[in-house]
Amino acid sequence: MKVTVFGIGYVGLVQAAVLAEVGHEVVCVDVDQNKVENLKQGIIPIYEPGLTPLVKENYESGRITFTTDAELGVKHGQMQFIAVGTPPDEDGSADLQYVLAVAGTIAKYMDDYKVIIDKSTVPVGTADKVQAHVATALAERGADIDFDVASNPEFLKEGAAVADCRKPDRIVIGTDSERVEKLMRELYAPFNRNHDKIIFMDVRSAELTKYAANCMLATKISFMNEMSNLAEKLGADIEQVRKGIGSDPRIGYHFIYPGCGYGGSCFPKDVQALVRTSQGIGYQSELLEAVERVNYRQKDKLMANLNHHFNSDLKDKTIAVWGLSFKPNTDDMREASSRVLMESLWQAGAKVQAFDPEAMEECQRIYGNRDDLLLMGTKEAALQGADALVICTEWTNFRAPDFDFIATTLKEKVIVDGRNLFEPVLMQERGFSYYAIGRGDSI
Ligand code: NAD
Repeated sequence: MKVTVFGIGYVGLVQAAVLAEVGHEVVCVDVDQNKVENLKQGIIPIYEPGLTPLVKENYESGRITFTTDAELGVKHGQMQFIAVGTPPDEDGSADLQYVLAVAGTIAKYMDDYKVIIDKSTVPVGTADKVQAHVATALAERGADIDFDVASNPEFLKEGAAVADCRKPDRIVIGTDSERVEKLMRELYAPFNRNHDKIIFMDVRSAELTKYAANCMLATKISFMNEMSNLAEKLGADIEQVRKGIGSDPRIGYHFIYPGCGYGGSCFPKDVQALVRTSQGIGYQSELLEAVERVNYRQKDKLMANLNHHFNSDLKDKTIAVWGLSFKPNTDDMREASSRVLMESLWQAGAKVQAFDPEAMEECQRIYGNRDDLLLMGTKEAALQGADALVICTEWTNFRAPDFDFIATTLKEKVIVDGRNLFEPVLMQERGFSYYAIGRGDSI
């Protein structure tokens, strides 16, 4: 099938590459000229396991192309995906300007039937807005062309995006049109062989499904962080509690890790957006507001532990930071806990020596050159001359470090661990002051 994808970000690029891999002809359109030129040269703008060879192979075979020419994109595909960003507006609601801009572009250039598919995470009612926007623009052109708008939210996880798109758990499609249903079945047939994973529903339910999924996951994290704070104050160990509750199949072990707060481009913005949606309809979402508040508080935890250890005197201290991305296997630092920590440290007059396996360039792009941030080539180098180590991200190669090296390299044997990677008792035996999350010793 001929497919066009607007927006070559984490979602658009991965989805486009996977659709091309199974044989669809995909044109990717982005307004970012630099990104498009780089992609044509095989330079992939994001780190995502397996993505580089996948994009290169499909580009070389001609199944995927990259362009800034929106007209070409609109003319190409019967299926028009909108996968642009929906960042938070000033009040936290989702900013739809990019989505509506693409809708306008499609309306401007289309000359035959199109299925316009919202892949971006958009508030309930957005498909109606896109429908109205396109209809108005077509009327202004004096064009009478048939089109449908469908919702097809994306559930990929950064860090496992290629695998998730190749083998989705479910494909949610919101439409009330039989014609769209048939076309979407054909589009996704290569991903739907083992059993039927496609869940058709009405458009509004599909739009809400995406928010409900992310808010549920954010709630699980904030719930565990709340429990971890209680555990600390009550002298319990949250890691024991986690295993104790995870063994109940109604709860399960997935996604109940306590830590230094959730980040990324989705959970914070989607929880916020649903809170604003609720407020907009006169419903106060007590639960989601609390999920957000708990997360804000949790992100301050690392700094609070450092302040506790150093009696709130961090001026001229050097802190080693391991992990900058909001989670492992990605270079994405949007809303990462590391950023809250580093910015607090700078405010307190401390210096940061950081290492991340993939997010160093991103960190450089965000913060530029500054005297109080040194990006180090290895995790060991980040420790040189530092007063303490803070772990923000649970990258695999942080899990069994050389503790003797850490002990002899740091000025003080202090580790603040935002991901509970080590056993407190063993850390104590090794002579460290070890501050974890919800494990007794922390504040
Ligand atoms: P992103 O910021 O990585 O990419 C968005 C891209 O859209 C950018 O390259 C930007 O240049 C481009 N763009 C903006 N306006 C455009 C226009 N008018 N025409 C063409 N391109 C345009 O965003 P992302 O992380 O891929 O997220 C996209 C959407 O998918 C968001 O709504 C997000 O909430 C949702 N989503 C993201 C994830 C994730 O893990 N990142 C997962 C599921 C859903």
